[in-house]
Amino acid sequence: MNLPTSLGELRKSEFTEERLRTRRVKDELRDNLIEKLKTGEPIFPGIVGYDDTVVPQVINAVLSRHNFILLGLRGQAKSRILRALTGLLDPHLPYVMDCEIHDNPYDPLCRRCVNLIAEKGDATPIAYLTPEQRYVEKLATPDVTVADLIGDIDPIKAARSGLDLASELTVHYGLLPRANRGLFAVNELPDLAGKIQVALFNIMQEGDVQIKGYPVRLNLDVALVFSANPEDYTARGKIVTPLKDRIGSEIRTHYAGTLDEGVAITQQEAWTERNGHPLYVPQYIREIVEQIAFAAREDKRVDKRSGVSQRLPISTIENVISNAERRALRNRESTVVPRVSDIYGAMPAITGKLELEYEGELKGADVVVRDLIRLAVSRTFDSYFKDGSMQQITQWFDLGGQLKFSDTAPSGELMDGLKHIQGLHEKLSAVGVKAKDKAEIVVSAAEFLLEGLYAHKRIGRSEERVFTAPEKQRVAEKAPAKEDFPVRNRRPYN
Ligand SMILES: [Zn+2]
Repeated sequence: MNLPTSLGELRKSEFTEERLRTRRVKDELRDNLIEKLKTGEPIFPGIVGYDDTVVPQVINAVLSRHNFILLGLRGQAKSRILRALTGLLDPHLPYVMDCEIHDNPYDPLCRRCVNLIAEKGDATPIAYLTPEQRYVEKLATPDVTVADLIGDIDPIKAARSGLDLASELTVHYGLLPRANRGLFAVNELPDLAGKIQVALFNIMQEGDVQIKGYPVRLNLDVALVFSANPEDYTARGKIVTPLKDRIGSEIRTHYAGTLDEGVAITQQEAWTERNGHPLYVPQYIREIVEQIAFAAREDKRVDKRSGVSQRLPISTIENVISNAERRALRNRESTVVPRVSDIYGAMPAITGKLELEYEGELKGADVVVRDLIRLAVSRTFDSYFKDGSMQQITQWFDLGGQLKFSDTAPSGELMDGLKHIQGLHEKLSAVGVKAKDKAEIVVSAAEFLLEGLYAHKRIGRSEERVFTAPEKQRVAEKAPAKEDFPVRNRRPYN
């Protein structure tokens, strides 16, 4: 595509003065959104689980030309949604070439461009921005200054050019002016100092701002979008009221509502398509990994305020696959098939993603995470095996059977051990596995079944990953069971 390179050519192209002179970023977002709504094109491709909640509200905010804020816990795709707004920008935006604030050729703000156009007229060179170049993101921290965000007066520049300090030619522009004619996203807005919030507000409201006491006029054209933790945002005094007032829409995000949505998001985000070995991830492994996040969000020992990010299942499944990859490479197996023991092997990807409450801290992250994995396994086990009786299998262990299931053991070796347990293979049809399937697949499914029985305490398992009779029974062999003692009848209350 041949884009005009001078102001003269620009005037004669589709980028006419009539169309572009007064078209603000928010008009552009709105126009392109309307086109997408008419054609039914996906508006935020890759955003899963928000179709009926967040997406319609973001659409309304854009149609209303609002600055808006997404309120939600970490790992709820807030940044991703904000970044996806670039999909609503024009593919090419003309600006005065080399302008630091990407001036509109028909309505330049900065002195340099006003002078340049006066001097060169139609020969003024034009350059273009892509949508990605028009997205500026800033993570707010308490040490962000007005200079970072808005700009600074450069005394050296002033001295060299003989200009007085307040002249805009001596301003060194900050992030916000550099986002002119684009999207400016501030993540964790409440962490921005009050003074900076006021500066932001002034830019939004009046188009001017004071830098080191000098008034500088900057009638910027920026769509401002924010994100914040809901509790921080609503806490009194964290956001200066006039700024809050200027944020048109407050939109709440949330975690995946269903396990299936969670699995879909994790599958999309995690790095699983790797070079080398063929990989097969059983669906129950994906579900257990996702269940860990769901279980953690309900667990009293996990801090609710900071939440449990979607990044937990994402990095967990990556680590699970790596543990399986390691085993397959060592044992020269043809296919990488993760097992439940690989999930225990992925604990380093889980512990760091959880902020624990005091009670959890006391127990230790390892204990809490083991509990969560066990709960996730038992729930997933129930969803697959709820109908079948497991008596035949538990009986084998009750009669003294033992099976060591190390996470590094080759599948062929474990297959031999499994043969001893009568009726096991038939049970695996519940997860779609047949006896004739590859050893890696059968072993993974069998281990899932045994881990499920262990999670329900129907069989035992030692530190060395040896499956045995349940702990209760092993204790009972040494000491007389409680039932052997006379039990005093409890007196009923009237
Ligand atoms: Zn300029």
